[in-house]
Amino acid sequence: ARALMPGPVVLAPTMGALHDGHARLLGAARTLAGPRGSVIVSIFVNPLQFGPNEDLDRYPRTLDADLAMCAREGADLVFAPAAAEIYPGGPPEVSVDPGPAGQRFEGEFRPGFFGGVLTVVLKLLHLTRPAVAVFGQKDAQQLTLVRRMVTDLNLDVVIEPVPTVRDADGLATSSRNRYLSAADRAVALALPRALLAGQAAADGGADAVLAAARAVLRAQPALAVDYVALVDPGTFGPAGTGSALLVAAARAGTTRLIDNLALVLPAEGAGDAAHH
Ligand code: AMP
Repeated sequence: ARALMPGPVVLAPTMGALHDGHARLLGAARTLAGPRGSVIVSIFVNPLQFGPNEDLDRYPRTLDADLAMCAREGADLVFAPAAAEIYPGGPPEVSVDPGPAGQRFEGEFRPGFFGGVLTVVLKLLHLTRPAVAVFGQKDAQQLTLVRRMVTDLNLDVVIEPVPTVRDADGLATSSRNRYLSAADRAVALALPRALLAGQAAADGGADAVLAAARAVLRAQPALAVDYVALVDPGTFGPAGTGSALLVAAARAGTTRLIDNLALVLPAEGAGDAAHH
């Protein structure tokens, strides 16, 4: 695409079933490309990143509505390949190893997930040759790992983060939200509420953040929590002082949700000072 389409070329990789979060992603891509550049949207439900007991077969597919949104948001080209085009010989023998940060959190609950994600992202980058690719902060660990891949493998692309879009009730928009019944959704709302409570307690330090978030989650026992943790946004290792991410994953009914909020942790001892 770098040779065939007017630059800068900006790629927005998605799995389709597009929603308001994707609209923001495509809007950001359009802005980064400028009026003369080109926006490519990829729509591909990547089998390589789904585990054997996950929702590959029932993942929502809404191509006509997706194409309408791409047109509305000013995309120049939509790349929606079949699985056999991306993996003509079946699963690849050579693939990307996401390293230690790919084993934690989402990687622990979804073995093989980030290897599948990074492998398809690398293939999509090679197939479309963009100067810039946009990724949502909603999938914070994915964003961190894509950036790490770009650094460690010297990829010639700039990664631009896009802020998380939420519905009016606070739930981050997600293609999987359409699985939620009204009752499930009410349960799911404890997730963003817990993150906000944690963020509001940031002046008290890491322990106060986690205590505040966990208190909200305990009050909604129907939400099955996989993890809630404070991490370093660059590595997904333990958070130090300064910029941190409060990350969480939980299941409401059969739907698995992830979310995160950024916050700033005070230096040692400053937590006490903030309260006197
Ligand atoms: P997906 O189709 O779920 O693989 O997501 C495609 C891209 O859209 C990823 O970079 C996501 O992080 C991003 N995205 C998904 N949901 C949101 C959201 N609520 N706000 C912002 N970006 C999002």
